[in-house]
Amino acid sequence: HAQNQRSRHASKHRFFIVELSQALFDFVIQLLPTAEEMAVKEDVRKLLERLIHTIEPGSRLLSFGSTANGFSLRNSDMDLCCLIDADKRLSASDLVTVLGDLLERETKFHVKPLPHARIPIVKLSLDPSPGLPSGIACDIGFENRLALENTRLLMCYAMIDPTRVRTLVLFLKVWSKRRKINSPYQGTLSSYGYVLLVIYFLIHVKNPPVLPNLQQMPPLRPISQEETHIGGYNTWFFDDIELLCQHWQSSNTESVAELLIDFFRYYSRDFSYNTGVASIRAGLLKKESKGWQNDLSNSKFNDARERNRFCIEDPFETGFNVARCVTKEGLYQIRGEFMRASRILAMRPRAILALSQLCEE
Ligand code: ATP
Ligand code: MG
Repeated sequence: HAQNQRSRHASKHRFFIVELSQALFDFVIQLLPTAEEMAVKEDVRKLLERLIHTIEPGSRLLSFGSTANGFSLRNSDMDLCCLIDADKRLSASDLVTVLGDLLERETKFHVKPLPHARIPIVKLSLDPSPGLPSGIACDIGFENRLALENTRLLMCYAMIDPTRVRTLVLFLKVWSKRRKINSPYQGTLSSYGYVLLVIYFLIHVKNPPVLPNLQQMPPLRPISQEETHIGGYNTWFFDDIELLCQHWQSSNTESVAELLIDFFRYYSRDFSYNTGVASIRAGLLKKESKGWQNDLSNSKFNDARERNRFCIEDPFETGFNVARCVTKEGLYQIRGEFMRASRILAMRPRAILALSQLCEE
């Protein structure tokens, strides 16, 4: 009788997993940007590039962030980076001011130059219109080559296992937005931070791993420092994904639903928030080893402590904590949401119900 009950239990569990995986695919697909939206965005990029050419003829305007890495949701903002040729005449903050003026004169965008931000940017937006029901929001930065590279790194990870990686990332982006834990300005985590958490989990927590560590794979040919370093940071990673996939396949066969359940369990119970640093490059590191400890006994470091509650190492700019904006309250909220999600999934409701409950606003 007990054995019967166990096998009924197991088959109910299998059904839940299969149903949830399917529901996750379906859920995510309807949130992808339409072809029109992508085309409008590309037109906007070209238009802006032409205008920028009037100030800096040799420059290029490239997209990065979600529009370029395959993790874009419908109506997500556009991140653009302007690359200027070597002998640039203006500093980034001056360019922001000049470009801001130009765009204000020549376009219908609302323009907000932020020349004194950590990374100077021009913020642009267009109001919703019949052809563009949600308007457009766009940030233009300058010379942010590391961001272009980390975008390419994330894109390569997405290409290795498109179904599982993209479904997980896109779902978590929607979930974190709906649950209001995706606002670095309000003490929670950026989308970029959540993507790094997913990749860290797939490379370093899952055993066998779902993804290889592209930054630790040996190059196919010897390469020089010059080729691998940007501004003193090593940005090398194995990027021949076609070749990689001919020789490497994950032996992890878990479904998206199983991975998602385990992701929530790991970040609600197992990740060591107090002492650990999640690094997709090097695995679990110690805050101490990076000088990121939040030593409560020393009030002089109050500020540093507040900045290092939650530690996620940037893949290239390794001295930079991507989660530095997360405050004590923000982390409490984020962990609370991981626990809530685990609790909901542990009750194994019908899949559709589970997703709408998870993403309840
Ligand atoms: P969304 O669709 O929510 O806009 P996104 O994928 O564009 O998500 P963002 O958080 O907007 O993600 O980040 C876009 C890019 O900006 C990232 O790919 C990264 O290059 C850079 N970036 C964002 N936040 C940080 C950060 N805290 N540290 C370093 N780089 C960041
Ligand atoms: Mg973005």
